[in-house]
Amino acid sequence: MVKSISVLGCTGSIGRQTIAVAEHTGIKVAALTANRRVDLLEEQARRLHPAFVAVFDEAAARQFRIAVADTDIRVGSGLEGLMEAATLAQADCVVTAVSGSVGLRPTLAAIDEKKRIALANKETLVCAGDIVMSRAAERGAEIVPVDSEHSAVFQCLMGRKKGELKKILLTGSGGPFRGKRREELEKVTPEQAVKHPNWNMGAKISVDSATMMNKGLEFIEAMHLFSVTPEEIEVVIHPQSVIHSMVELIDGTVIAQLGVPDMGLPIQLALTYPERCPSMFGRLDFAKLRDLSFEAPDFEKTPCLKLAMDCARMGGTAPCVMSAANEVAVGMFLRHQLGYNRIYDAAASAVEKVGVAKEPDLETILAADTAARAYVLENFSK
Ligand code: MG
Repeated sequence: MVKSISVLGCTGSIGRQTIAVAEHTGIKVAALTANRRVDLLEEQARRLHPAFVAVFDEAAARQFRIAVADTDIRVGSGLEGLMEAATLAQADCVVTAVSGSVGLRPTLAAIDEKKRIALANKETLVCAGDIVMSRAAERGAEIVPVDSEHSAVFQCLMGRKKGELKKILLTGSGGPFRGKRREELEKVTPEQAVKHPNWNMGAKISVDSATMMNKGLEFIEAMHLFSVTPEEIEVVIHPQSVIHSMVELIDGTVIAQLGVPDMGLPIQLALTYPERCPSMFGRLDFAKLRDLSFEAPDFEKTPCLKLAMDCARMGGTAPCVMSAANEVAVGMFLRHQLGYNRIYDAAASAVEKVGVAKEPDLETILAADTAARAYVLENFSK
């Protein structure tokens, strides 16, 4: 169990839940970072007394420095601030809950310091999975997944030998528009897309869940995290989100991890692993559960999932380009600047037009990320 954490991205959905879990389990918070939500950050900082706080946005950092001038909290800003929070000596674990590729360098820096990474930033493995996993192995840093699916697989594989795994069964609810055809989704609004049937999450990931790009990103992450090939992962639609994922072993045995759909549970395990402790979350009541159902994904109706799986096979910078293009397109959709179906169009077209580099280094990956963003802004703005 970890003693003290740095929370990168503390004002987002995962960041706030991480803080709640830390307070519940008595884990100290050594550092916090946020983009620009100064009010919430100040409230958190006054309650938790971290040694260091970084505000990414420079103007917001100035504002925050003034707001906490009466305390002894050190304040940093920009990427430098994020890096300092990620490598702070007092923390033995870094929770990477920032969204976007900005999380990459701090994660690598934390790995170099041998800190446990409680991984909640998708881009880390989607964009730079090969680099991050080999660096972690080299330095002996643990990567414990926070995402519910990967946490489930992680738990199902506890105490197993690598050779016993036949395949990963990655479950997904199918989102709010499961079974709908493209033509029926033409007029979907941001308000409709962010209403997930089971999970309460941030806006971007909720849209990704609706398009199933989220499952595609998780597919790519799972490849890296558990060093399996695309052929060794099968996506299973399971609308109730009670099973969080499964593994099939070579003898045909399937092991599943079940629990209430609350991100607090995988967050808590990422911090207490290899131990477990009582949680403040709900319990499954099998008398009330009734049906658990399963179906195969319909790739024609979930082109984003198909695209992500194709990019996983392509490798190189393909997943990074797709993910960056998708992020920009989802942002435009949330601001009512792009139609729902155009999210897929933007991501697919970026993969085709931006080009894919094989075996990229970190600079090449970050350049591909920038190029994909620029491509979508240039070609998909109204
Ligand atoms: Mg997930």
